[in-house]
Amino acid sequence: MELKSEDVQEYLSYQGNPVREQFPSLNQMVYGKPLIYLDNAATTQKPWKVINAVQEYYTTINSNIHRGVHYLSQKATDAYELSRTTIATFINAKNSREVIFTKGTTEGINLVADCFSRYGITDKDSVIISSFEHHSNIVPWQMLCDKTGARLKVIPMNEDGELLMDDYKALLDDTVKIVAISYVSNTLGTINPIKEIIDLAHQIGSAVLVDAAQAVQHLAIDVKDLDCDFLVFSGHKMYGPTGIGILYGKEEWLEKLPPYQGGGDMIKTVSFVKTEYNELPFKFEAGTPHIEGAINLKVAIDFINEIGLEQIAAFEQGLMSYATTAVQEIPGVNIIGRAKAKTGSLSLSVTGAHPYDIGVLLDKMGIAVRTGHHCTQPIMDFYCIPGTVRASFALYNSTLDVDRFAEGLKRAVNMLV
Ligand code: PLP
Repeated sequence: MELKSEDVQEYLSYQGNPVREQFPSLNQMVYGKPLIYLDNAATTQKPWKVINAVQEYYTTINSNIHRGVHYLSQKATDAYELSRTTIATFINAKNSREVIFTKGTTEGINLVADCFSRYGITDKDSVIISSFEHHSNIVPWQMLCDKTGARLKVIPMNEDGELLMDDYKALLDDTVKIVAISYVSNTLGTINPIKEIIDLAHQIGSAVLVDAAQAVQHLAIDVKDLDCDFLVFSGHKMYGPTGIGILYGKEEWLEKLPPYQGGGDMIKTVSFVKTEYNELPFKFEAGTPHIEGAINLKVAIDFINEIGLEQIAAFEQGLMSYATTAVQEIPGVNIIGRAKAKTGSLSLSVTGAHPYDIGVLLDKMGIAVRTGHHCTQPIMDFYCIPGTVRASFALYNSTLDVDRFAEGLKRAVNMLV
């Protein structure tokens, strides 16, 4: 598909989606073609507001927090704590003591798994995850099981990529100490019936951790309404900085669990005989955190709030249906994951072609997609495929992007099959 200069202009003038204007990295040519960025489940591009705020932080209030009495340190501390309050409001936490800054989703899950492994779990206990978890919601629990002798139980799924809820109910017994489950699958796009999953776990006295890495940018999240015990997400997947994330934990749980790491800020007093830990949320934030990232995660959340998650969800839902219709008309293309409720990610395989080859050809057309197992190897084993081609959407994508992707895919299939 050779682009005519009018087509390029159409892209670069951002017709059809004014939000694009706020994302400078989208305004570029790749191999002489306008960039079409459909790898948003891996990481999103950043709006000017966030980019400018990063520069502003380093050119004005850069300093260490919670320690200094000087002006810059107080300014940075205020901004850091204001961000925590904004995030608490964004997810409707009871208060900001329930909001812990982490490096990202992976660290949040490791934190909870590690603290749980030192909180009375024994070889009589078990942990439940699902068959379509990201590796970062599998391996930390396997590590907990290695340490404690607890058993890992896995909720199976059907061919459409939906969890088998009757099988889940059958796994729930009094050995289960925690259910760790994604809200939205990064590979299949499936939206889990998360409230029901949480309610059922609570009925047998288990805690629940929700991996919201692929949910928080697409769906409004209310932790009080969900009643989850823990919820984790990453800033870089929601238009914010990389290396910053959030662990939400119910205050009762965060009070009960032992600290994760030891160091500065997480202590009240230290002597060689005894150390007294700091109060929440600082108990779980040892050492100098990613101060700039934490402060500017607020800027990304303000950006999302200005548009509104309901509006974002409706727009992305439309885009997802449009893309599904467009790709399923291409001979040889199989959609992987046909759950009734989906958002964000559209995975597919092509009969007779390797996903990597499709990805390379699309890249040469300026179209960025993800290929491979997407850190969900058990899903690939389930479908007996080496990987998928995954297009994932954000609020700056448009039907023009989808058209170009579908045309590119058709062309790649014709070349390879
Ligand atoms: N969980 C899910 C569902 C994900 O999609 C990802 C990243 O793709 C992660 C966890 C890990 O996130 P991070 O690498 O930001 O820690």
